Amino acid sequence: MSVMTEKVTHVHHWNDNLFSFRTTRDPGYRFKNGHFTMIGLPSDDRPLMRAYSITSSNHEEELEFFSIKVQDGALTSKLQNLQVGDEVLVGKRSTGTLVPDNMLPGRFLYLLATGTGLAPFMSIIKDPEIYDQFERIILAHGVREVSELAYSDYIENVLPNDEYLGEMVRDKLVYYPTVTREPYKNNGRLTTLMECGKLFLDLDQPHPTLEDDRFMMCGSPSMLKDLVAILESKGFIEARNINPGHFVIERAFVES
Ligand SMILES: Cc1cc2nc3c(=O)[nH]c(=O)nc-3n(C[C@H](O)[C@H](O)[C@H](O)COP(=O)(O)OP(=O)(O)OC[C@H]3O[C@@H](n4cnc5c(N)ncnc54)[C@H](O)[C@@H]3O)c2cc1C
Repeated sequence: MSVMTEKVTHVHHWNDNLFSFRTTRDPGYRFKNGHFTMIGLPSDDRPLMRAYSITSSNHEEELEFFSIKVQDGALTSKLQNLQVGDEVLVGKRSTGTLVPDNMLPGRFLYLLATGTGLAPFMSIIKDPEIYDQFERIILAHGVREVSELAYSDYIENVLPNDEYLGEMVRDKLVYYPTVTREPYKNNGRLTTLMECGKLFLDLDQPHPTLEDDRFMMCGSPSMLKDLVAILESKGFIEARNINPGHFVIERAFVES
């Protein structure tokens, strides 16, 4: 695999299980917002690389990643100790299904994430084109505990005041964080909230229709399975290869 070596410029630990880091970016590196690439740590042997969504947007100068800390995980047991100045390997090739071109045009775009599945959507909500394509963009993030609501302050307070994107974000982006294991303003799983309709009621959105609503989803394999079943039971079709559809999915990780 063809890789670039980048330097860590910033590390932020959200809690004991989650952290983010930024690296330098090769000026020639191109990717689509919503894509993932492979990352790893330099070693004498063949380096161990894992798939990671790119959290930064393709117009930003640095690369950013949002990571789980798996205590005995082959990569993240080491990656969680990253310090500013350390080297990280970044795959030259990026790919993925979470790109709006794959979907039929629509009015309302739902970005549904659990856990680190938020990562690709952080890139997408900083993409000015998405605000041209949809009337309203709903970013729903489901987690177990409040401390896992990474980037919430950025989404609620920083992005709406961004010099270039602020107006579009204030006009069109709606953030819906929900927590399952602690009291919070929104509680419950995204699957349940969709099935019982509370999500749409809370957002003052009409119930989804094939004409108007599009979905991008990223989370655990089981969450995706349940969401796909809900959508397919209502006639929504997954976009595949060159055939556009009403929704696209990407696994946030693979269950071992
Ligand atoms: C397309 C794709 C994109 C991905 N993007 C990201 C990303 O942006 N951020 C990220 O942290 N990980 C992401 N992953 C998962 C990532 O590739 C690794 O699995 C993760 O970094 C842990 O690596 P590891 O070697 O430490 O442990 P692994 O041996 O890879 O994983 C051990 C176990 O930990 C659990 N696990 C792994 N990753 C996660 C996770 N993200 N959330 C919850 N449980 C998990 C699983 O049960 C897994 O079997 C992505 C995976 C895929 C397939």
